[in-house]
Amino acid sequence: MHIDNSNESIDYSKVRYLLGAAELHQLPDDEGIEVAFAGRSNAGKSSALNKITGQKNLARTSKTPGRTQLINVFNIDDSNRLIDLPGYGFAKVSRAVKNNWEKTLSEYLQTRRCLKALVILMDIRHPCKDMDVAMIRWSLAAGLSVMVLLSKSDKVKQGERAKTTRAVKNTLKPFVGPDSELLISPFSSLKGEGVSAVTSFLNNTYKKGPLQT
Ligand code: GDP
Repeated sequence: MHIDNSNESIDYSKVRYLLGAAELHQLPDDEGIEVAFAGRSNAGKSSALNKITGQKNLARTSKTPGRTQLINVFNIDDSNRLIDLPGYGFAKVSRAVKNNWEKTLSEYLQTRRCLKALVILMDIRHPCKDMDVAMIRWSLAAGLSVMVLLSKSDKVKQGERAKTTRAVKNTLKPFVGPDSELLISPFSSLKGEGVSAVTSFLNNTYKKGPLQT
């Protein structure tokens, strides 16, 4: 079935879990559009996915460190998918697990042609750790659209939210090129701040349609 992206409004409550891939060959065909969610473990990624889709248990991934980490795939409709990348920066993960994760992640980011955008969650109280900045730099350099969600914004006062948003924007500004896009918003799964901003970002990305090559 062909989906006319120009007119359809996307209903994120229809998002359904499809599969968890330990290796890239287990992913669905490299067609349509994917937007991937990434972030350090505990940044609030599962809560954000649940909030955006209005489903309490959608991203109920295991929090056990050292367990096989999967790339979780969710179908929105026939051509659009959300991807939940394994959380990074878990200190207790063994070197071997970490190496394997980094290899799979970088392969996914570098080879997946239907990947159009990344949503990166950073705890508003601890933003821009090395791995966050590396992910954002790489994604922008690859011409992907990036939205940074400064998560758990309810944990800080309004003034600090605005201040951190400005500081993060300044830190990341040098990496935004002429063909890339970077949006930054405070986000709270608890209070709903930033939900409409990320939903519009997703809508815009999916509506652009698959890359014609
Ligand atoms: P993940 O490891 O990135 O998937 O993070 P989770 O979504 O599991 O969240 C980690 C912890 O942060 C949990 O205890 C959540 O309840 C908490 N958390 C997540 N989002 C928010 C938020 O918006 N506000 C607050 N106050 N806590 C949050």
